[in-house]
Amino acid sequence: MTLVSGWGRFPVVDSDVLRLRSFEAVGVAVVTGSVARGNGRAYGDAAIGAVRTIGMTGFDRVRSFDPATGRIRLEAGVLLSDLIDTFGPRGFLPFVVPGTRFVSIGGAIAADVHGKNHHCEGGFGRYVDSILLRTGQGETIEASREQNSDAFFATVGGMGLTGIILEATMRLRPAETGWIRERVISASDLDAAMRALDAGDAATYSVAWIDCAARGRDLGRSLIYLGEHAGKDELAEGAVAFPAGKNRGLAVPIDLPAMTLNRTSIRAFNGLYYRMGARRAGGDHVVSLYPYFFPLDSIADWNRIYGRRGFLQHQCVIPEPGARAVLGEILDRVARRGDASFLAVLKKLGQGDGILSFPLPGYTLALDFPVKGDILNFLDEIDRLVVAAGGRLYLAKDARQSRAIFEAGYPALSRFNAIRKSLDPAGNIRSKLSQRLLDEV
Ligand SMILES: Cc1cc2nc3c(=O)[nH]c(=O)nc-3n(C[C@H](O)[C@H](O)[C@H](O)COP(=O)(O)OP(=O)(O)OC[C@H]3O[C@@H](n4cnc5c(N)ncnc54)[C@H](O)[C@@H]3O)c2cc1C
Repeated sequence: MTLVSGWGRFPVVDSDVLRLRSFEAVGVAVVTGSVARGNGRAYGDAAIGAVRTIGMTGFDRVRSFDPATGRIRLEAGVLLSDLIDTFGPRGFLPFVVPGTRFVSIGGAIAADVHGKNHHCEGGFGRYVDSILLRTGQGETIEASREQNSDAFFATVGGMGLTGIILEATMRLRPAETGWIRERVISASDLDAAMRALDAGDAATYSVAWIDCAARGRDLGRSLIYLGEHAGKDELAEGAVAFPAGKNRGLAVPIDLPAMTLNRTSIRAFNGLYYRMGARRAGGDHVVSLYPYFFPLDSIADWNRIYGRRGFLQHQCVIPEPGARAVLGEILDRVARRGDASFLAVLKKLGQGDGILSFPLPGYTLALDFPVKGDILNFLDEIDRLVVAAGGRLYLAKDARQSRAIFEAGYPALSRFNAIRKSLDPAGNIRSKLSQRLLDEV
């Protein structure tokens, strides 16, 4: 057994972790209580097997690529970072990227990850045509919208609980360059931020970074980043069409003491960040896709700044009617506590594609908190506000929500459970997350 955790380093639990290299070995390795693990970027306990964790990053081959259509067949352990580095210079990028590029294809499908374009282009699963799935009862099936469609829609967003994704066929987006035309808008409070996001509905990419230490009149003050793919004719003279992804220069070498993050340091950092960003607000700037999409990737192991006890990310989505009031209430409670992350992220989402996909039309807010004090009770209270407003929490970020909150947020759960049971009647596929939230007890 090995001690293992997600990106938030909470909880840390025992599981038998294997890293396999052949599909035959995957078949043999699945015992009761197994789940696949990609690159471990889910924050909580989703990628930890109840008994055994099947590491998939060894499956990193591209099977075929058609440059005429952008269709690609690849193994589930390929990382988005490798896909971008390899196919970007050839004029193709993934349609959807989350806030880090260090995620696997299997992990991106299983969480049906969303990017800054979910409001207009949907999630990762929308661009997946088919999946080769090894089910819990040992069958290997191809699932698509036409064939084994229940298995397909349960696997997109199904957090690995329908089986092990071995390969996928998906579509890439033609992209002339690896540059983004960015517009920064500064919003002095939450109303202005939400108005700016609404006004940015037509933009391909939009996201707001909120200063969650700001209170009173400044509550919800934000910088909104809109983005479009830049054409070659927009690049500075001499600029290469596809910038190189920087290797992560800075790293956090040790677990920082928990006191490093305190009310004063967070307020100071956020205030500075807001003022510097506000100065750039206004016109368009062309920036490399790496800082635009993946600002946190430039610091390796940044999860260590929260100290040894780890941290929790709380990401909720709240449907549009009533979202303003609930977001205001959450941000006010968070600002009064003073220990939330440097910056919170607010984005608009559209409809998710999978049965258990997180997105629904509304606003999603993501906040980080160090694990300490009464944080678990505090988040339980926030959860109740979220589900009372018809919202839900994102499983890929979750380490602690209760079963009741989960069930209230995911009304299609019984359909998901029925499909999961038909694919795996003996219940072999189980993660720590499924034990906490879904499995019969
Ligand atoms: C800095 C940062 C920013 C992020 N930003 C976003 C964001 O903007 N949008 C967003 O949607 N998410 C975001 N995430 C979350 C992340 O995209 C998801 O958790 C994603 O699933 C991680 O992929 P992974 O390969 O690391 O998978 P893991 O964390 O290893 O696993 C995640 C889930 O996928 C399942 N899984 C993995 N591989 C397979 C497989 N081969 N077959 C079946 N199931 C599999 C696991 O069982 C688990 O349930 C972010 C995470 C970080 C750390």
